[in-house]
Amino acid sequence: MSGVQYLRPTSLAEVQACLQQHPQAQLLAGGQSLLAAMRLGLTQPSHLVDLQDVVELQDIRVSHDHVWIGAMVTHARVAAHADIQHHHPMLAKLAHGIADQQVRNVGTLGGSLANNDPAACWPAGVLAYGATLVTSQREIAADDFFSDLFTTALRPVEVLLGVRLPACACATYVKYEQPASRFAMVGVAVTRATAHTHSPVRVAITGLGHGVMRWPDAEAALQGHWSVQALDGLRLDADMAQTDVHASASYRTHLAAVLCRRAVAAHTGEEGRLPQPARTRFPRALAHTERVDSAQHTRQPAHQPGAISGSHHLAQPVSLVWDALLDPVILQPCIPGCESIQRLDDTHYSAVVKVGLGPVSARFATQIQLQPVRSPSQGEPTECRLQLSGQAGSLGQGSAEVVVHLHTEMSDAGTAGTRLMWHATPQLSGQLAQLGNRLVQASARSLSTQFFVRLTQVLGGASTAPRPPSIFYAWRTHFSRWLQRFFKR
Ligand SMILES: Cc1cc2nc3c(=O)[nH]c(=O)nc-3n(C[C@H](O)[C@H](O)[C@H](O)COP(=O)(O)OP(=O)(O)OC[C@H]3O[C@@H](n4cnc5c(N)ncnc54)[C@H](O)[C@@H]3O)c2cc1C
Repeated sequence: MSGVQYLRPTSLAEVQACLQQHPQAQLLAGGQSLLAAMRLGLTQPSHLVDLQDVVELQDIRVSHDHVWIGAMVTHARVAAHADIQHHHPMLAKLAHGIADQQVRNVGTLGGSLANNDPAACWPAGVLAYGATLVTSQREIAADDFFSDLFTTALRPVEVLLGVRLPACACATYVKYEQPASRFAMVGVAVTRATAHTHSPVRVAITGLGHGVMRWPDAEAALQGHWSVQALDGLRLDADMAQTDVHASASYRTHLAAVLCRRAVAAHTGEEGRLPQPARTRFPRALAHTERVDSAQHTRQPAHQPGAISGSHHLAQPVSLVWDALLDPVILQPCIPGCESIQRLDDTHYSAVVKVGLGPVSARFATQIQLQPVRSPSQGEPTECRLQLSGQAGSLGQGSAEVVVHLHTEMSDAGTAGTRLMWHATPQLSGQLAQLGNRLVQASARSLSTQFFVRLTQVLGGASTAPRPPSIFYAWRTHFSRWLQRFFKR
């Protein structure tokens, strides 16, 4: 951490002056996330602007229609605040459930929200409350604040001042902890604005995917009928959940639905009607993971630690998707952060890809080896293996083995499209390895989702109706083949 200057302003005006003067400066709240990232060499601000003496960020104010909590208020202060305990018990309990006393004494509401960890508790509470986040420049509705993995709507020189949470009739947060870190494996917050029938209900889930999200189907069902029964039969889409060593996507979606029922039951008095959790402590999650997977997803590949997988339907025929996957000119705009890609021979490519892994941005010089196992001309199913290995300077190395399967899948309209399934085992070494599986896999999942969305667009849209390849695709294919022929001469 050598060379970092420490600044300790005492007013908001001074904080803003520091940020204007030093564009590479970073705000320091309790340092629970930021200092850890700096120790690992993952972020290197020129200056740390410590917010602990800025009185404007320390307030808690509770009135009959809302509560205001300043950005620098620690979790411990929220948990111990008598008025919050009385009028907003859910907020006090959420804060009390964060990590251990040491973390709660130092970690802050503002730091947690600005960090937007995909498994943090505060984003779920704030989103379920429909809170307003007030910054040095504007007011941002919670629905617009949490953008993506470790990303928010905050601009570089914007300071989060605090959060205004409206009073509501019912609010509960229930989390199932990851036992080692005590972050939420999954956490669900449910709020109901008033006691009236058809009062608006908000359901926010953390720990499920790349970041906190609402569950609109559950909200609509509960708004019509405020009872656990209203949730019967509702399922979350496993495609938006992450799989990691702790739990599969299907386990997480199942857990989210169970926790949502518990949160509602806490208000409706229906707890007795819910199945009781098993008595065992730590192995409970893993045992349940196996049961859910074996019952509902018998075709999932055997789980390897760190493996991720996905499945997508594309409207184009297998031969067209196959050609696109083997064509670097098509691939480059589809790979998020791909700065260049070069074909070395029929099966080898080199690429430079800039990847954001949570708070870290690493530029990988990557070697790609393609091994087409079966091509469409040999009849289905079609399979391709990719070996990727990349060096991200002094941060470390990354590698992955990816297996892609393609087969024809008929749409509801009876037209032939492609079902594309992939399975990848990413591995990091060096400092990057210390980022931890949760972060790496959430990033990998986010990047692969972006890749397939872009591929679908390049191939001519996501509709299930048959469409000819887009002009863009045809032009690129034609141009790339022309270039290859030209340079072979
Ligand atoms: C072991 C452990 C377990 C944890 N378990 C949980 C858990 O179960 N649930 C949970 O919700 N959290 C958990 N946390 C997170 C923790 O409680 C902190 O909230 C989180 O790490 C942020 O730390 P901080 O407040 O010290 O902010 P810092 O680390 O100082 O800052 C984090 C980021 O926010 C930015 N930032 C800080 N303040 C502002 C501001 N006012 N305006 C704009 N940007 C700002 C910083 O520049 C930095 O990028 C855990 C943390 C640890 C270490």
